[in-house]
Amino acid sequence: MPNLISSIREKYLFTLDQIATAARKSARDPNEIRLVVVTKSQPLEVAQAAIEAGARILGENYPEEGVTKIQSIGNQSGVEWHMIGHVQSRKARLVTDHFALLHSLDSLKLAHRLSRFAGEANRALPVLLEFNVGGEESKAGWDASDESAWDAFLPEIAQLLALPHLQIRGLMSMPPLGRDAEDSRRFFRQVRRLRQWLADQLPGGDWRELSMGTSMDYAVAVEEGATLVRVGTAIVGERRYTSEDDA
Ligand SMILES: *Cc1c(COP(=O)(O)O)cnc(C)c1O
Repeated sequence: MPNLISSIREKYLFTLDQIATAARKSARDPNEIRLVVVTKSQPLEVAQAAIEAGARILGENYPEEGVTKIQSIGNQSGVEWHMIGHVQSRKARLVTDHFALLHSLDSLKLAHRLSRFAGEANRALPVLLEFNVGGEESKAGWDASDESAWDAFLPEIAQLLALPHLQIRGLMSMPPLGRDAEDSRRFFRQVRRLRQWLADQLPGGDWRELSMGTSMDYAVAVEEGATLVRVGTAIVGERRYTSEDDA
């Protein structure tokens, strides 16, 4: 365990350092950027070690796997759990009961359920809207690959803003897997343009967060305006298993 913690700590601190460098390069305050350490498909010990190594936000992709870890580790002060993967409607309650922020809201149907369950739990759930800027069939989120067609999803987004127990805080995106970090830049720029467009169209909304960038391209994401980066393997190593939900 001590080895695991110190190895994660070293990579965690290195990542924070890279984030700060990228932020300064684009004249941003490094404090505007939060690092989500992605522990999906990692055993409990790795999530625990990440917390001991200093991680303050942990990201999980599968509601059940995440809840098992949250319950085993218990409420540690100052630690937040974020849901970053696709959530099936029937798992919505796990999210409203256990997570601080949902990065990957990808349908109106899920939004309605989340709002209802959050209301029952007497809370408001902060969420980010997932957009698919690469236009890949396999990716979740509203298709935002064609800028001339952004009008198409505006009515749905306006409906989301009106849901009583959801707090929309910004956008999330996962660009197509490229060969290197620079391949992601144009997609991150597109997400940032989309945020500006949404803020212009729906000025009553809160569009401050941009969740984008993973192990391979988080520095480019920070240069392009990310406020949340989601880094797994670069900090906690290769994933140990594939969740059943992965199929
Ligand atoms: C797995 C995952 C990540 C982390 O990816 P790494 O390559 O391990 O950094 C980030 N975001 C989402 C949505 C993921 O599913």
